[in-house]
Amino acid sequence: MAETKQTEAPQLPKHKVKYKKAFQRACNEPNAKGKLCGGHLKRWFYLADVLEQACGDVRQTFGDHAELYRCEHCRILYLPSEQEPRGRNVAGLGQQSIFGLTLTAKPGDEKDNQ
Ligand SMILES: [Zn+2]
Repeated sequence: MAETKQTEAPQLPKHKVKYKKAFQRACNEPNAKGKLCGGHLKRWFYLADVLEQACGDVRQTFGDHAELYRCEHCRILYLPSEQEPRGRNVAGLGQQSIFGLTLTAKPGDEKDNQ
């Protein structure tokens, strides 16, 4: 039961990979001066990235449609957190699960308050 840490992301030869915390929007990787990078994490569509097409290791590791984010500053890759709540109260995030699961919330389902 003690094994709850989620810190080891699969590392790629040419990319550093981390797990994103729930709702994390800014890079927390320390830079060379020991400060946090603070770069904006953006959804990264690596299939559309010319450089990544030449590299290809991301696609090999995660498949064609993995949900990945990349720091626009230091280019570290972020995997979505497993603790990130999905499908509820996430207005504005606009992200969808693309790991083959389609968890459909019933429209107009208001029973959560009971
Ligand atoms: Zn960064």
